[in-house]
Amino acid sequence: MSAIDHLVHANQRYTESFPGPRPLRPKLRLAVVTCMDSRLDLFGALGLDIGDAHLIRNAGGIPTDDVLRSLALSQRALGTREIVIIHHTQCGMDGFDDEAFRRELAEESGVEPTWRVEGFHDVEDAMRTSIRTVRECGWLPHRDDVRGFVFDVATAKLTEVV
Ligand code: ZN
Repeated sequence: MSAIDHLVHANQRYTESFPGPRPLRPKLRLAVVTCMDSRLDLFGALGLDIGDAHLIRNAGGIPTDDVLRSLALSQRALGTREIVIIHHTQCGMDGFDDEAFRRELAEESGVEPTWRVEGFHDVEDAMRTSIRTVRECGWLPHRDDVRGFVFDVATAKLTEVV
């Protein structure tokens, strides 16, 4: 059975106890920006329920242009007000060599990527940069409540970066 077959079977079971539709606008008026890492169970680790928050994920949980696009929609069209950014320990983007990766893609495909894959060397420094990027984004009407945390994948503990 492939991984996708596994999902399809799991979905059949899930629908049997599904509680039904929720409103489109997130109940907690919250957007979470975080890494795509498979060890971050946002519903379990943050006590979230279906319909509570927007979950915006990419490699590293970095507020790239595309994340800022999603945050602008989240706030302007769907009523969110607070933003939490979560980086984590043992992230694949820790020490990632963006230049080498882009060179590899360009050499193999003949097409230069238009985007960067922003790696980092210090997760707390990366968080301070991420918070600053979001706070300085003029497309977002609500930037007073932006907080950042590091999630420890070994203990599931969140530590705020101030
Ligand atoms: Zn990560």
